[in-house]
Amino acid sequence: MGKLDGKVALITGGNSGIGLAAARLFVTEGARVVLTGRNLATLNAAVEELGNESALAVQADATDPESSAKAVEAAIERFGKLDIVYANAGISAPTPVGDTELSTFDEVLRVNVTGVFFTVQAALPYLQKGASVILTGSVLAQAGRPGGSAYAASKGAVSSMTKVLASELSPRGIRVNNVVPGATRTPIWGQNTPEDWAKLEAGMSLSIPLNRLGEPEEIAKVALFLASDDSSFIQGTDITADGGAGAAPMGAPIYCLS
Ligand code: NAP
Repeated sequence: MGKLDGKVALITGGNSGIGLAAARLFVTEGARVVLTGRNLATLNAAVEELGNESALAVQADATDPESSAKAVEAAIERFGKLDIVYANAGISAPTPVGDTELSTFDEVLRVNVTGVFFTVQAALPYLQKGASVILTGSVLAQAGRPGGSAYAASKGAVSSMTKVLASELSPRGIRVNNVVPGATRTPIWGQNTPEDWAKLEAGMSLSIPLNRLGEPEEIAKVALFLASDDSSFIQGTDITADGGAGAAPMGAPIYCLS
């Protein structure tokens, strides 16, 4: 028996990285999934892999509330209900102070914050008692990474919004929690070759006690926990999966060099 048998999940950004890993895991656990993103080719490839009975792809831009509403309607039309909303779509862009255009800063906030809120709002009329809403933060909300003001602010906002939404939706028996990944091996890092990845990992791992990047499947397992009834008493919280970088930074290899 799967942990998500009979459930229907909307996964924004389900065509890449963590969202795609979650789509695979959710389907393995018995769910049917509706995947959104802008890239039709990768959306179609995901459905081909997961199978037409289990997956539906909807091209939808998370910054456009109408588009999000249409994705939800397509999910209802196809599968008849919605139990899980995993607002995972997100972008990162450099926004160094002194050299950032308003449009770049705005775009990060529109995808990572406004898009998340309106995805949840679009799904809300269909969510019943026991539904689970999962948002996506980042350890970079707290890390002070240079050049990351918009991204950090956006993910800090998601963490704050998680608590407000949890309060608002608790009376309806809907849970809202926030998965907070550390550095995870996905296309968001823009690495193209194994050499690029090796270089990034060698640098990043120095600050991670477990001495490696996370894999998208490891973050997907946290989302599965929050999506399933295994987390039935967990509400309004952040769950971090970062190899210890935030909680025990002094265990990182950078502090162990002698
Ligand atoms: P990814 O592989 O680049 O995936 C990002 C996803 O978001 C893609 O599916 C992309 O699809 C979708 N997306 C971006 N803009 C969109 C828009 N306007 N409308 C709809 N979909 C959009 O990166 P990832 O690492 O899996 O990222 C997933 C989430 O994890 C993000 O929220 C990210 O901030 C967060 N996160 C990642 C890390 C990490 O190290 N990887 C760490 C902390 C947090 P399209 O391009 O087709 O639109």
